[in-house]
Amino acid sequence: MAKQNKRTRIVCTLGPASSHPSILEKMMKAGMNVARLNFSHATHKDHARVIRLVRATARKVGEHIPIIGDLQGPKIRLGVLPDEGVVLKTGGVIILSTALKTYKGDALPVTYTGLHKDVKKGERFLIDDGLLELRVEKVIGTSIHAKVITGGKVTSHKGMNFPDSVLRVSAITKKDKADAIFAVEQGVDWMALSFVTNAKDVLALKRLIQKQTPKGQTPARVIVKIEKPAAIENFDSILEAADGVMVARGDLGIEIDAEDVPIRQKEMIEKCRRAGKPVVVATQMMDSMIRNPRPTRAEVSDVANAVFDHTDGVMLSGESATGDYPLATVKMMAKIVMEAENSVYDDVALELADGEDSQLSAARAIKLLSMDGAIHGVIASHELAPWSERALTMHPEIPLYIATKDARVARQVSMHWSAVPFVMKIQKESTFIRAAIANLKKQKLIKKGARLVVVTGHLYGDGIDLVTVE
Ligand code: PGA
Repeated sequence: MAKQNKRTRIVCTLGPASSHPSILEKMMKAGMNVARLNFSHATHKDHARVIRLVRATARKVGEHIPIIGDLQGPKIRLGVLPDEGVVLKTGGVIILSTALKTYKGDALPVTYTGLHKDVKKGERFLIDDGLLELRVEKVIGTSIHAKVITGGKVTSHKGMNFPDSVLRVSAITKKDKADAIFAVEQGVDWMALSFVTNAKDVLALKRLIQKQTPKGQTPARVIVKIEKPAAIENFDSILEAADGVMVARGDLGIEIDAEDVPIRQKEMIEKCRRAGKPVVVATQMMDSMIRNPRPTRAEVSDVANAVFDHTDGVMLSGESATGDYPLATVKMMAKIVMEAENSVYDDVALELADGEDSQLSAARAIKLLSMDGAIHGVIASHELAPWSERALTMHPEIPLYIATKDARVARQVSMHWSAVPFVMKIQKESTFIRAAIANLKKQKLIKKGARLVVVTGHLYGDGIDLVTVE
């Protein structure tokens, strides 16, 4: 499959199932565009090895593959329980203790030591992706007494959610800070911020990254994971502060009503597209392929519908990290994406540009030109026109060739729908077009006769220009 022709990105979480040279190479060739490392699991040593592997494999296949370092964030979990787990009976009352690290005398340990101060009588809490539901009855010292509404068995380190409570946890934990510093040292391209609730969280992470990044290097960009009701409320200001968005449907579907998630997905994608910031739909997209060689029909529809919503990327979690069929999943996902993109249902209607937004006007002109086949692609210089990532806001069915002199920027812009970045030293207005065309011809990405829109930014304001390749 010509990867070039697939516009929607496939983000693959890497883990034991995929961190081997031969499988990773095959996944990249099959349509994987982005590697995600989940800092909730594995050691820095393991992650460093996988980062080296991704870089080496990407070089081998000739792709700019960005790496996302996903910070765990203030995820609250149960502590250590007996190996056989603990059964919580529906209708019973249990004690949750913030003073314990391991199970003792019928009290379940919890990792957030301030929890007893933040929860109130009547509030719900959920364990193991919402499978168990409990309700707070009373709090005595560091013990939270809770009634079991829906029971079941729990085991060590199961995740917990508190949809009714306002928790005073910091968005960047001590572990996140250490992981972020490690990720910067490793030259990770994007950093994912979990459980973000407001724009301040985003700016705090950006400051940390900036401080750690050596002078002269491009700092990692920040993609925010929207998985809390507060993040939905503050979405506009969070989006303004962030560089990209992940619709983190796993936790979001527990923290808000699950039936609300598809609507929020559409809303967030729409806002990101107009802002020219990449958005990724995540979690359970091909979940059954963790165990089965074929996806369910509902999963196929979910992936296709994310494309119809105009997302930049679709993500695999356990499917590619620990599943039995990582390569088959990427192949299947790429097929679904291509089919959806080839239909008319992914087409963005030509919107009227906002009068004051000249970049959106340029994007509209590009869309118009592409619709009757008048152009075959867009060439832009990241350095001369950093706004060029908005050029395909209206999703014309053409590639956006983004030239940059910085390999990290090339990887960062790879997160965008239809972006084909390439590294080129010359970034002067007077010689850019000629050099860029020569470069793309050499790579066999464009041919004589191709008509291209050129975005050079400063020279023409936010304007665009047309060239025909000779
Ligand atoms: P996770 O986040 O994979 O870190 O849990 C994604 C989600 O909650 O959807």
